[in-house]
Amino acid sequence: MPVALSGNQIREKFLQFFESKGHKRLPSASLIPEDPTVLLTIAGMLPFKPVFMGKQAAPAPRATTSQKCVRTNDIENVGRTARHHTFFEMLGNFSFGDYFKREAIAWAWELVTVVYALPADRLWVSVYEDDGEAFGLWQEVAGLPPHRIRKMGAESNFWESGPTGPCGPCSEIYYDFHPERGEVEIDLDDDSRFLEIYNLVFMQLNRDSQGNLSELPRKNIDTGLGLERMAQVLQGVPNNYETDLLLPIIARAAELAGKDYFQLSEADKVSFKIVGDHTRAVVHLIADGVKPGNEGREYVLRRLVRRLVRRGRQAGIAGAFTQKTAAVAIDLMGGAYPNLIERRSAIMTMLGNEEAAFLRTLENGEKLLADILGRSRGTVSGEDAFTLFDTYGFPLELTIEAAAERGLAVDLKEYEAKMQEQRERAKRAAKTTDLTGGVDLTGVPATEFVGYQGLTAQARVLGILNDGKAYGSANAGAEVLILLTHSPFYAEGGGQVSDRGYLTNEAQDLFVIIEDVQKQGEIFLHKGKIQQGQLKAGEVVICRVDLVSRRLLQAHHTATHLLHAALRKVLGEEVQQQGSLVAYDRLRFDFNSPRALTPQDIAQIEQMVNTWVMEGRPVGAEVMPIAKAKELGALAFFGDKYGEQVRVIGVPGVSIEFCGGTHASNTIEIGPFKIVSESGIAAGVRRIEAVAGVALLGYMRTREQVTNALSSEFKVPVEQIPQRVAAIVGEAKQAIKQVDSLKSALATARSEALMSEVEQYGEFRVLVGHMGDTEPEPLKAAAEHLLTRLGEGAVVLGSAPAADKVSLVAAFSPRAIGMGLDAGKFIGPIAQIAGGGGGGRPNIAQAGGKQPEKLKAALDQAFAKLYDTFNE
Ligand code: ATP
Ligand code: MG
Repeated sequence: MPVALSGNQIREKFLQFFESKGHKRLPSASLIPEDPTVLLTIAGMLPFKPVFMGKQAAPAPRATTSQKCVRTNDIENVGRTARHHTFFEMLGNFSFGDYFKREAIAWAWELVTVVYALPADRLWVSVYEDDGEAFGLWQEVAGLPPHRIRKMGAESNFWESGPTGPCGPCSEIYYDFHPERGEVEIDLDDDSRFLEIYNLVFMQLNRDSQGNLSELPRKNIDTGLGLERMAQVLQGVPNNYETDLLLPIIARAAELAGKDYFQLSEADKVSFKIVGDHTRAVVHLIADGVKPGNEGREYVLRRLVRRLVRRGRQAGIAGAFTQKTAAVAIDLMGGAYPNLIERRSAIMTMLGNEEAAFLRTLENGEKLLADILGRSRGTVSGEDAFTLFDTYGFPLELTIEAAAERGLAVDLKEYEAKMQEQRERAKRAAKTTDLTGGVDLTGVPATEFVGYQGLTAQARVLGILNDGKAYGSANAGAEVLILLTHSPFYAEGGGQVSDRGYLTNEAQDLFVIIEDVQKQGEIFLHKGKIQQGQLKAGEVVICRVDLVSRRLLQAHHTATHLLHAALRKVLGEEVQQQGSLVAYDRLRFDFNSPRALTPQDIAQIEQMVNTWVMEGRPVGAEVMPIAKAKELGALAFFGDKYGEQVRVIGVPGVSIEFCGGTHASNTIEIGPFKIVSESGIAAGVRRIEAVAGVALLGYMRTREQVTNALSSEFKVPVEQIPQRVAAIVGEAKQAIKQVDSLKSALATARSEALMSEVEQYGEFRVLVGHMGDTEPEPLKAAAEHLLTRLGEGAVVLGSAPAADKVSLVAAFSPRAIGMGLDAGKFIGPIAQIAGGGGGGRPNIAQAGGKQPEKLKAALDQAFAKLYDTFNE
């Protein structure tokens, strides 16, 4: 048995080993990939994809990382196989056109047999069937006998990340748990015996658009070793879950459920394993800036939290618990991933809120399930089962079980169809939109942004696009997307909308209005309207940003930073930005907040910001290494990606933030600052909208028009509008009350005329009558009045207060009730005749309907019923 190493030691030994082989140790990238077409980071190579694709320079010739990964496609295996997680750590060594196959194989072998000291006779490898080179190297370098090197097909041992681009064979190392079972009929896919621990990808080929393969001039290495799997092997435990990387979380869950995990059956352990796995996934996703939501990765997080909560309940934990397991996970991994510690309070708040909300929905789901079972005949519809699952997180098995208990089946076909629709929706949500309409921008260089320094720049036109096609020129009247070598226009990003302005040329015979600029990757797409002249690809143009527009944006952007600083001063340091919008006419700032803001808070924040404005503090922008920025305490917006060098915006003594936006050079340029609204947008998340500077005039003008209109309407000065309105509302309420009581009195008086239609049956008197267009309340008053006039008996009145409205009321005396009459039950079927329904108490009940033409039939029916009752 090899030496037991802790998970942290395994990670550290891996990184140290490859550092000793000249690799640069890089930190794990965020779970939110930079590549907008990928939902989550699923492998160690993902952050380096642009390097492998030749779109970005390598950070070093050789690198090594421990990369956090989330794979949702393995979710069904979690807790069921010994080796799959949603969240796991992939240890990797990478060569960017540097060393290749021989070294990769030799070092992999040295790592597993020397560093991790796995016995060589426990190891098997696979190679791609056509990769004779790898087959030879494993024998030569590792001394493996040929029969322990299995040749496998392309489906498992040929790697490609898309239909075109770099690709190549791979080779995997397996650990054999049961050598005593012999070596005949070996199946490496049998995971009760073999565990894949390490995968080496030899990126040596390129596939072109025709599908032809050619040798890459610079070959790459990409590898992945599963930390949890190596821990399983080295710690001699039966699965990843019982390693020191996960067991403490599971143990805490078991403690909360009052159970001893090791005494449980394998089937009962599953829920605990899922709790362990999902707890790790959700804390990391939130730490990396994902919020629970209904689309894309936000939906992934929501689903994981819901599964976690449900599994906790199934495991026997009562009530909310996720913060307790999360605390263990954060302590466990905070050393390797410090952002877990930094974001502890945000993780706890978000998780707690999401769990509480889900527990409420679950309760409703249980009610809905009872409802559905009550009304289902024979089968529960697939749609109902799907709603239970999708909206309430109710697993299908539970619905099937509950249905079976009542002798009901579930329409699984329809359920599956609904599920399929949902998957399609999720797929569409995962795809990001291509702004060019399908133009291939490969080879177009990144646009160089020169707009921090000035508002004017010369640039060459690299492309003119329209409707998914590229053109050599475009004439006046055309609306096109323009690609430029340089641009002073800030492209929408980081919450700031784009600059506006125009393009012209030296001869001044060209004029193109630029109304919007969007980024596609690193390339700016200038949306332009050609007003005059001809725009030609390849020519040089002069770009001018509109100064006033830029100043409006700058004022709002710098104001946003001051607002952020003021919020932290007033509400506390745990305030964290969740999103923002910087526009010409306003700013919007979303943040998580320990509480709602009081009017005093708002006044204080406004005053603070305005003081900083009036003090005329300088605003500085500086590009610096990320480590230095962090040291200075610069606030970063979680969910954003930062490179080695970051831009930092600082207002001395007030604020320092990572930011790529354009800013005022002094706070005085912001002008007056005013918060115009504050509201809650999600649990624990608040939104402030504010307006600064000249833009305030636009805001005030709208308000002024309204107050002026009111002032002339009410004929009072603006200041007196509130009193005037209050007085008018008071009068109106009074008047409505009077009208109501007059209507009732009138109806009561009118009802007197019906007294001539009273029928007498023994001691009972019965009256069924039509009251014209009397409204419901007066109708009821009339019925009550008539019943007192009748003594013992029954009154049923109907009216048609509108062309499509029927009102009905039944009033029965105590002795009539003694005859078995119940107004509440009586009135429903009557109202049904007139297209409605209703009910009430036994002595009086009201109902409505929609078909006045049926009112007479309804009253006749009421009369017939009463006649029967009193003449039996
Ligand atoms: P498997 O066939 O076991 O699912 P894979 O072929 O999907 O593995 P790779 O994509 O080659 O795995 O990933 C590289 C390494 O990352 C694997 O060798 C394994 O150690 C680890 N790994 C992959 N998927 C998971 C997972 N879901 N949970 C834990 N570790 C994983
Ligand atoms: Mg897999």
